[in-house]
Amino acid sequence: MHLSRKEKKLIDKGVQPPFKVTGHWEGLLNGNADDPLRRQVVPHPAEKKTEPSELKDPLGEEHYSPLPRLVHRYTDRALVVVTGQCALYCRHCFRRRISGNEFGPISRSETQAIALWLKEHTEVHELLLSGGDPLTLSCRQLEFLIDSFRKARPDLVLRLATRMPVVSPRRITPALVKMLGRQKPLWVVIQVNHSRELSPKVLKAVSLLQSQGLPVINQSVLLRGVNDNVDVLENLSRALVSAGIKPYYLFQGDLASGTGHFRLPLEEAMALVDLLRERVSGLAMPVFAVDLPGGGGKVPLSRSYIMGQKDGLWHLKTPQGIEGYYPDPPKEGET
Ligand SMILES: *Cc1c(COP(=O)(O)O)cnc(C)c1O
Ligand code: SF4
Repeated sequence: MHLSRKEKKLIDKGVQPPFKVTGHWEGLLNGNADDPLRRQVVPHPAEKKTEPSELKDPLGEEHYSPLPRLVHRYTDRALVVVTGQCALYCRHCFRRRISGNEFGPISRSETQAIALWLKEHTEVHELLLSGGDPLTLSCRQLEFLIDSFRKARPDLVLRLATRMPVVSPRRITPALVKMLGRQKPLWVVIQVNHSRELSPKVLKAVSLLQSQGLPVINQSVLLRGVNDNVDVLENLSRALVSAGIKPYYLFQGDLASGTGHFRLPLEEAMALVDLLRERVSGLAMPVFAVDLPGGGGKVPLSRSYIMGQKDGLWHLKTPQGIEGYYPDPPKEGET
């Protein structure tokens, strides 16, 4: 892959996460210096700039960790950082403190400790398997992991967060898909940021997952120079919906150090999301959200479609600008 002298120098000096791209991704590049797919993977000199507001652990995940690798921020959901390794490293990664460093795959004893914790914490209904990319584990490692959690809690809804179907679709083998299919209910959450990522091989990997009854949803990150344009976002949403993938979240970038060049001012970001809402269906519309810096959780961001309220009459406005009124029901006793 062609790299400029400046980029080579930057990479030689060492970047975190390391520079790593898959052959599949390389094959999708269009050769332009400003290719949105290239921008997601090639280190940029701006990464060396850290702003005072940026954090090493932007979501304060370490404060919500009852056990190593376990993040329990919401009562009914918990997240396991399965590994720090990925097939390809995204320059915008918000877990860049762990992605691609020595943070290896979860051990058997760590897995068993979390399984025991899950048994006691029946308020947890959903478990997210995240990282890094859990699909960098072998099928055997992965099966041990999921089996341990499944045995501890047969009712648990699992969410596997992986970029592998998109960055290395050949990892989605029939054997892997069959194993995952036995662990339902299990949702697969992928990350696609631009419609060009949905190549024929990627679409095939996704349908293989879907053929086992595994729902596939998508989380995108709003990124300057990648998808900060309403046409690009519209194409992405339409391509996802056509492939049976529900656009779930569109994230405003977290304050991970060295990612400032990817972030949009919120005013601009929300205006963009408004335009998208004007154009596409509810099915094609992701929830635009940001994680509170330092921890606390996700905040859905939206312009208000409520213009006002008076005497139980709500003044509303559709994304297309049509106004109307919606009354509250009569108060009890008045009927
Ligand atoms: C995002 C996140 C979840 C899942 O939140 P949803 O809004 O249900 O997608 C769960 N735990 C942690 C720690 C998270 O960051
Ligand atoms: S795949 Fe996910 S964890 Fe890995 S580098 Fe990209 S954003 Fe980070």
